[in-house]
Amino acid sequence: MSADRELSEETRLIHLGRSQPMEGVRPVSPPVVRTSTVLAPDIATMRANKARREDGSRVFSYGARGTPTNHALEEAWAALEGGERALLFPTGLAAIAHVLLTCLLPGSHVLIQNTVYPQVHAIRSKFLEPRGIASTYFDGTVEDAAAKITPATRMIYAENPGSWVYDLIDVKALSTLAHDHNALLVIDNTWASGLLHKPLLHGADISVIAGTKYVVGHSDVMIGAVVANGELGRELWRMQVVMGQTVSPDDAWLTLRGLRTIAARLPIHAASALGIARFLQGHPLVERVLHPALDSHPRHDLWRRDFSGSNGLVTIGMRPDIDLSAVDRFVDTLRLFGIGSSWGGFESLALPQAPETVRGWTGPGVPVRLHIGLENPADLEADLARGLAAIG
Ligand SMILES: *Cc1c(COP(=O)(O)O)cnc(C)c1O
Repeated sequence: MSADRELSEETRLIHLGRSQPMEGVRPVSPPVVRTSTVLAPDIATMRANKARREDGSRVFSYGARGTPTNHALEEAWAALEGGERALLFPTGLAAIAHVLLTCLLPGSHVLIQNTVYPQVHAIRSKFLEPRGIASTYFDGTVEDAAAKITPATRMIYAENPGSWVYDLIDVKALSTLAHDHNALLVIDNTWASGLLHKPLLHGADISVIAGTKYVVGHSDVMIGAVVANGELGRELWRMQVVMGQTVSPDDAWLTLRGLRTIAARLPIHAASALGIARFLQGHPLVERVLHPALDSHPRHDLWRRDFSGSNGLVTIGMRPDIDLSAVDRFVDTLRLFGIGSSWGGFESLALPQAPETVRGWTGPGVPVRLHIGLENPADLEADLARGLAAIG
């Protein structure tokens, strides 16, 4: 690969983490290397590999430390996020837990954005608090974080944008605040999946991503990643070895396959979602529509400044006089929208939720989260129109 100009991201995603030659030629994708034991030619090589590993280097030395399949994905994922090192975890939640458990010591304090992925609240109450790690919620703004940060704060943990309501945060300003207080800024970057936003390039210290969503893109693998630079990246890796966290090479292989096409898939999700968001904005049964690419989004300015695109998630708030059971009927009537959690696959999904259970949700109307898949958007719009007519 040689070029006079810097290659665009779409092109780099095709060439990253590719296979090595074998028998003088090479397959398109790296092979799935499955092994526990890794055989060295002699004791000296084995010892040298172990020493390099302890130093924080990535070495093919034992199945749990990752095989060349995992390493190819790590290399590609780090490049996608603009970071030096990517670590793989069995789920997005495991990646989040690893960061919280290894970076926070008893006696320290963490500021947590209110609208982060719901399971983070369980880590907070069931794991951090009983072990003497204090936490405070903040609303995602720098002003609120500055008012609540304490001398014990070692981390600001946020999601950009937050789950369900897509509240956008100013990563640059939050990173300045965190670093002034000797704290880390950790961003859950699942919404942008590396392609649309790169927190490390805006001053964050750690990016965590649920690859389960758009990176995999086909709803058939659970995987997470942590991306960080320098000594922090090496320390997170050493702790990953301590904790025995690893990912199957089969899952790494499928994720690498998903990663190849993310730059082709996301713009389709985004264009269809924006069209459907505008259609729903004009519908009499829908009170509001949340999607960062809409001009009406509260922090549309931050999305324009820090993101290169959008995705397929749209949350609608139904008119307040339509109760949850009517909304459930609407969703049950849809033919093209699957009913289930998660998102980021090729198919569309719809998920209603009781308003009081959605953090950051303000209006009384019932929220429904839509994931717009890769179907023809006219078919999806007709399905939604029919479903709304059934309860209207
Ligand atoms: C889904 C999700 C996770 C968790 O990922 P899993 O792979 O399902 O554990 C974490 N953060 C965000 C923002 C998510 O949407």
